[in-house]
Amino acid sequence: MIIVMKPQAKQESIQRIKNIIESKGLYAHISAGKEVTIIGVVGDKTRLQDQNLEIYEDVDKIVAVTESYKLANRKFHPEPSKIKVGNVVIGGGSLVIMSGPCAVESKEQLLATAHAIKKAGAQILRGGAYKPRTSPYAFQGLEEEGLMYMKAAREETGLPVICEVTSLNAIEAAVKYVDMLQIGARNMQNFYLLKEAGKTGLPVLLKRGLSATIDEWLNASEYIIAEGNPNVVLCERGIRTFETATRNTLDISAVPVIKEKSHLPIIVDPSHATGVRAYVKPLSLSAVAAGADGLMIETHPDPARALSDGAQSLTFEQFEELTRELRPLAALMGKKF
Ligand code: PEP
Ligand code: MN
Repeated sequence: MIIVMKPQAKQESIQRIKNIIESKGLYAHISAGKEVTIIGVVGDKTRLQDQNLEIYEDVDKIVAVTESYKLANRKFHPEPSKIKVGNVVIGGGSLVIMSGPCAVESKEQLLATAHAIKKAGAQILRGGAYKPRTSPYAFQGLEEEGLMYMKAAREETGLPVICEVTSLNAIEAAVKYVDMLQIGARNMQNFYLLKEAGKTGLPVLLKRGLSATIDEWLNASEYIIAEGNPNVVLCERGIRTFETATRNTLDISAVPVIKEKSHLPIIVDPSHATGVRAYVKPLSLSAVAAGADGLMIETHPDPARALSDGAQSLTFEQFEELTRELRPLAALMGKKF
């Protein structure tokens, strides 16, 4: 942390700040320029959390030197993390595809989807049992019944399963049935939910919030890891911008930025990013080319009749075509698929 003093700050103002820093057992490194003096704080800056240094006389601004997230930070963990979900490893040099319906609608729908996506090469089955819908009148999910079908699909296909949790009750139910929890975009900064998901020890897929910066997203991941659960995978799913041609705007740059700032694996969800089936393939290819560790793709046996997100869901044939086209690109990127 660096404290930048105002031009021509009085000597007594500089000394006051230095005294506060030293009174907390920290070292104050003063560099006096011609116009501006800056004070570097060396040591554990959390000792200064009861001091609002910016309100003292002649202080211009406080500049953070290191990010507030530590456990998710690549600076303190240079090796990329590998996260195990059942027998699947995310971030270990493979391309991992999670696919399935937006919402679990019936046992038949889920099992048909599970078999089709497995045949096409997907390694994890997704399905929503608790749906965070924009309208309270839209289909809200089958809840625990849906989780039971997810477990049945895993037993039948061997695919690990992931389901979104939206409340503490949903977490308590989901831990009995699924291999990975999903925290959706709308709950990315529901810090209580993040902590509870962290406590389960299950791997967590943390989607980026609709309007979240990368810094806020990584701080959210820190809440989960700080509970002693390092098994976090990030998912870029588009952010709100002024553009209305797509549901959201896919921030492909998040992939290399996350790779630089964090050791956590990152996957991309082009389905929720665009809301349009025709854009899912080109953006899946872009995500893999940018270095993503995986993809989340919505599929449905009959998208025209889907109870949610039909317009962005791929048919089984379209999903098969997508995985076929991904194979040579994955190989080019050095990823097993
Ligand atoms: C989902 O994956 O079903 C979902 C609701 O996604 P998001 O949280 O990204 O909107
Ligand atoms: Mn959906």
